[in-house]
Parts: sequence; structure tokens; C-alpha cells
Amino acid sequence: MTDFNLDALCRRIDDKRDDLVELTRDLVRIPTTNPPGDRYVDCAALLGERLKNRAFSVEYIRAEGAIGDSDRYPRQNVIARHQGSAAGPCVHFNSHIDVVEPGAGWQFDPFAAEIKDGRIYGRGTCDMKGGLAASVIAVEALLEEYPDLPGALEISGTADEESGGFGGVAYLSERGYFSPPRVDHVIIPEPLNKNRVCLGHRGVWWAELETHGQIAHGSMPFLGDCAVRHMGAVIGAFEAQLFPLLKTKHTSMPVVPDGAKESTLNINSLHGGLAEGFDGLPAPLVPDSCRMIIDRRFLIEENLDEVKAEVTDILKSLATARPDFRYELRDLFEVHPSMTEPDQPVAREVAAAIGQIISEPLEYVVSPGTYDQKHIDRIGRLRDCIAYGPGILDLAHQPDEYVVIDDMVDSAKVMAVAAYRLLTTSR
Ligand SMILES: [Zn+2]
Repeated sequence: MTDFNLDALCRRIDDKRDDLVELTRDLVRIPTTNPPGDRYVDCAALLGERLKNRAFSVEYIRAEGAIGDSDRYPRQNVIARHQGSAAGPCVHFNSHIDVVEPGAGWQFDPFAAEIKDGRIYGRGTCDMKGGLAASVIAVEALLEEYPDLPGALEISGTADEESGGFGGVAYLSERGYFSPPRVDHVIIPEPLNKNRVCLGHRGVWWAELETHGQIAHGSMPFLGDCAVRHMGAVIGAFEAQLFPLLKTKHTSMPVVPDGAKESTLNINSLHGGLAEGFDGLPAPLVPDSCRMIIDRRFLIEENLDEVKAEVTDILKSLATARPDFRYELRDLFEVHPSMTEPDQPVAREVAAAIGQIISEPLEYVVSPGTYDQKHIDRIGRLRDCIAYGPGILDLAHQPDEYVVIDDMVDSAKVMAVAAYRLLTTSR
């Protein structure tokens, strides 16, 4: 094998700048909005066709039977693998190809991928088609510079990360696509900023709480029982007890931004009484149901049973204190926190490459929200996984989302150098 030449590899990536930009734009112009999970087949094909032309073996895997999968909206995934000339480990770059809906407030067309001031604007530029494109360019440049690399390089484009990853990385992990011996090291190019190694994420518990009442004429509320007032008591107790308690919990995980170093709870939605959406005046009714969705993010120091008990204890004490307080609590979604160690090979090599290529100081971080690392860790049982990619975390899911072209180029260099070192030096 030829000796490693950092400058030559970086120059090769610089030369691919236009290719990187155009690939990002092509990906963004396919509106893979999820939900419902549109156009996955087209986006997976774009990636698969490109890599097939570069001697990758390409597999398309539809997550048949997964949540959300249908003939109208198939959960299509693509995995491309380049097998080197000699045995060695496998470095895998995994990107989700879905994007969230654009929402209101855009000055740019969300799916036109316009370029302005060195940035590409559009839904998914930052989260995370820019990172996907950077990983493709990194791998292509690496293979051109070092055609005799041992081991294997894989790139995947997977479905449904924004809705839990069940039709994407979870499905594939259950089938061995994210486990040794097939894969040894995984880099997920989520937008965490180009100088940051993201070691993992906090945990999640979503639940729906419903309080029950009794319907009656609104002029005689004493004949019914108001479910909204019962929910008001719940919110009052959350304000008095739960929110102050969460403020006292701090993690040693390096979560960014700082506010997310504490436990958090968001009240996602609240619905009580007669549904809106009609013309004219509402009927006078005492609401017999009030529902609230809560989104609790928890720390590696907490466990999920305790997290749930904080809420159920409040509900139980309300049930003793308030006459006729009746409720149901339904679990919707849960994810345990996940964090790999900074001395694991992939974290170590990406950190070293950042030190060589990026001028900003290296940071280790943990994501406030979850991403597909949870499935690779829990189902694939592969610990050597991090997120690393271009793009500014705070722009994800925002209007006028963009990615800075220079950041994509820089992070492609980091990915290429780290992959080279993982394939040639560490096992
Ligand atoms: Zn993402």
C-alpha cells in the first residue's frame, strides 16, 4: 500500500467540491418527507445507482411490515458495500434519507436547494443530506487515492429516522446489517457541527395522559365532572413538583446545548372537550375527556422506571386528593440513553482527524434528542458508533435550513481520514 498522504487526500476532496454540492442538491430535490415517508425509492435509487457505478455491491431492502410501510409509501433502504482486496474491518457510514415537513416561514423554496453565500438552502440540507453527500465524497475520494485499502466501506441511506427508525436502522439491525462480523465501526453523519464527536444521546419517554370526567350541560357544570379541570390539577402538580425536581437532575454526559444537561419535560399537546373544526358556536358541554402528550427526555444517570414513577406518583396522589379523579396513562415511545466511550476506535480516530483538519477545538458532545445510534447499540449490539457530520444542530427542522459548503468539504476530509485509519491501523 502507498503511504498515507494527508495533503493528497484533502486535495482530492477539494477537487470534488462541485460534485459534493450537486449531489447534495440532487438529494434535497427529492422531497422524502416523513411522515408519510414519500419518495424513499427514488432517493435510495439515486444513491444506489451512483455507488453501483463505483464497484459497490448495492442492496435495496424494503422494511416490509414495519410501522408505516405500505405499497404507497414503501420503507425503502439502500446499503452499498465496497469490499477491499484484503481482509479487514468494515467502516459504515449511515444516513437517514427522510426529512421532516418544511412547515411555514421559508424564504427559500424548501426543495429547490438554492445556493446563496456559500450555503445550500432546503429541507434536509443540514439534517442530513449534506452529511450523507459528504460521506459519499469522502469514501469515493478515499478509494480513488487508495484503491488497495483492506477491509470494507459501506454507505447506507435509511428510512424513517424522524419517526423512530423502525422501518430503517431498527429493521436492518434486527437482520444483522449493523453488527459484527459485517460491520465494525459506524459513523452517522448527523449535523452536530464539524468539530464535534457526538458520543450518543439522552433517553426518551413519550406518553399520553387522559383525564376522564362526565358530560353535562355547560350551564349546570355541577351535574357533570370537568376533565379539563382534572388536567389542570395535573399541570399544577407538574409545575409545583415535577418541573422543579427535573431542574435538580444534572448529567455528566456532555449534552449540548447546556439546557439539555438537565432532565426535561415538554408538554407536546393538550386537547380537552369538544373538538374544534366546526363553524358557528360550540355546544355548551362539560368536557368528559382531556388528553395531554408528554415528552420526557432523561439522562444516563436515570432509569426509565424512576422516570415513569415520578409521573405516576403525582397521579396517584391526585387520585387520593381529588374526588372522582380518574385517568389513564399510555406509553407511546421509549428509548434508553446511549453513549459510547471516547476511547472507542471510531470516536478516537474521528477526534484525531478533527484535530488535524478542523481549526475549531475538538469537542465531545451528546445529542439532546435521539437518533439511530439507539438501534445500532441496543439491537445491533455494536458499541463503536458515533455521530459526526457537517451542519449546525440548531438549524435542523427549522425554516430556511441550510448547510455551509465549506463545512461539508471539511467534514468529508475528517470522514475520509478517520476511515483510512480505522481500516489500516485499528482493529
Ligand atoms: Zn437527522
